[in-house]
Amino acid sequence: MSPEVERARYDYTLAAGEPWMGLLGCGETLRIVDLEGNQAVDTLFYNLNDLEEHYSAVDTIRTQGSLYLTTGSALRSNLGAVMLTITEDTCGRHDTLGGACSAESNTVRYALEKRYMHSCRDNFLLALAHSDYPLTKRDLPSNINFFMNVPVTPDGQLSFADGISAANRFVQMRAEMDVLVLISNCPQLNNPCNAYNPTPIRILIWAG
Ligand SMILES: [Zn+2]
Repeated sequence: MSPEVERARYDYTLAAGEPWMGLLGCGETLRIVDLEGNQAVDTLFYNLNDLEEHYSAVDTIRTQGSLYLTTGSALRSNLGAVMLTITEDTCGRHDTLGGACSAESNTVRYALEKRYMHSCRDNFLLALAHSDYPLTKRDLPSNINFFMNVPVTPDGQLSFADGISAANRFVQMRAEMDVLVLISNCPQLNNPCNAYNPTPIRILIWAG
């Protein structure tokens, strides 16, 4: 059963395009709410007690035998451990393959003059630079894109499709270890996934 919003120990609205970092104790629950619909929320997790252990798309996909994340998905680390389990999901599908937008992807996907536009990779680097953790760009593996719809076509291509989320849909997960959470509330202005319109998200945490 969903925990009551009033009982959350943390409740924060993250503006469109902004980074966020936070801690989840083992057994705590994190909910990310897509307040206006079709926002992409680029997310990474690190083991707070061993920062070299982090979310691994490869291990997660291989173990569950599926490309998309939803209720029941175990988010695994590069050491194969379950870091978090998705316990509730009113969106239904989250991307594991698209990665973070960056100056490079802005250039390749869109146009050379898009290179200097605000990107998720810049957000990640900014958050790491302002944190007390010894993490650098070498510590940015392939991330989850919550609420983002990147279907794989029958011929094996990735397609950045219209979003399937909607206002107030959310994804909720339980930490299975102490984790550091790194989020970029995607600032991308060139992608149909978010209807070319970045919007705020709400982050809630409940004690375990
Ligand atoms: Zn992005």
